[in-house]
Amino acid sequence: MEKTFTIGDRTFVLDQDKAEQAYAAKRVINGRKSEAFNLLPLKYQWAYDLYRTMKANHWEPEEIPMQKDIEQWQGSELNDSERWIIRMGIGYFSAAEGIVGDNIIHVVRELVTAPELKLVLGRHAHEENIHADSLLYMISSLGINPHECEAMFEQIPTIKRKNEFVTRTSHELRRDVDLTDPENKRKLARNIFVFGQCMEGTQFYGLFGMILALRRQNKFTGIGQMFQYTLRDESNHIELCRKLFLDLVGENMEIWTPAFKQELVETMKEAVALEKEFINDCLPVSSVGLSAEDFCQYIDYIADRRLTGVGLNALNPGVRNPFPWLAETIDIKKEQNFFEGRVTEYSKATVLVGDDDDL
Ligand code: FE
Ligand code: MN
Repeated sequence: MEKTFTIGDRTFVLDQDKAEQAYAAKRVINGRKSEAFNLLPLKYQWAYDLYRTMKANHWEPEEIPMQKDIEQWQGSELNDSERWIIRMGIGYFSAAEGIVGDNIIHVVRELVTAPELKLVLGRHAHEENIHADSLLYMISSLGINPHECEAMFEQIPTIKRKNEFVTRTSHELRRDVDLTDPENKRKLARNIFVFGQCMEGTQFYGLFGMILALRRQNKFTGIGQMFQYTLRDESNHIELCRKLFLDLVGENMEIWTPAFKQELVETMKEAVALEKEFINDCLPVSSVGLSAEDFCQYIDYIADRRLTGVGLNALNPGVRNPFPWLAETIDIKKEQNFFEGRVTEYSKATVLVGDDDDL
């Protein structure tokens, strides 16, 4: 069927069948390859919607005042374990944000074929740049030696192990992967699961909780604010990876075997174990009124939310969230904008995309 458009004195004839074929050829992987970035017609509407939500949440680190944090860092009112949490936060995330951004660009965005998926993944990678930049801003504001930071992710074994856990699934998928091979499809699905649900979805949450706990006590409020914005972004990244994973599996059901499901649950188990070891390094003594034990239970709770979110069985069914206040803190929809005194309306850009709240 042909459709004619007349604009001024020019007439264009467009082929409806071709447009429908282009739509049908859109796939998560092994779809039509085109340099033309043909976003329309949208097949993965959720990806475009999420892109717009993420864009509406844009923030810049320099907008956040650091004066009070600097005074606290240099002063004597805070104890060593509180400072240690900040050091671990800066040390871990300085490496982690970069690792995520690199994987999104060089593995996931490279291998998916539908343009609207590439669009939202590009935004995801950009947000990791903002997060990396926010850490640079924290490091320079507090006057921390950058080499000290690098030393942390090279020399603290629990940070090294967390990083190795994710990078090994990234290195095996660089370029020229035959994605018609079910084994490679599984590798990509596992990669998206590891980054979205295990790393961003679970292994980020120990420190997020500790830093937001400090902020709740008016300690390092600038850093806390940046982490709160980062957490809001991460909620969208987790959701993006969750939906991408579900669509990838849905279009390639031959990979969704009991053995593969079991493998993913085991992978999450490993992620949780690594995070618990890391939490014990961050909180060697009970601090910020919270114990490492509570944080470990919190990780069990979060991990099960991630597993069930992609149709996998929970590891600890019925485990309770020990920090109900954290769910509250994370909801920044109603929050007052601190630098201009205007109320920031985030309601369009929901913190937690989807039907469930994230904590
Ligand atoms: Fe991030
Ligand atoms: Mn992220």
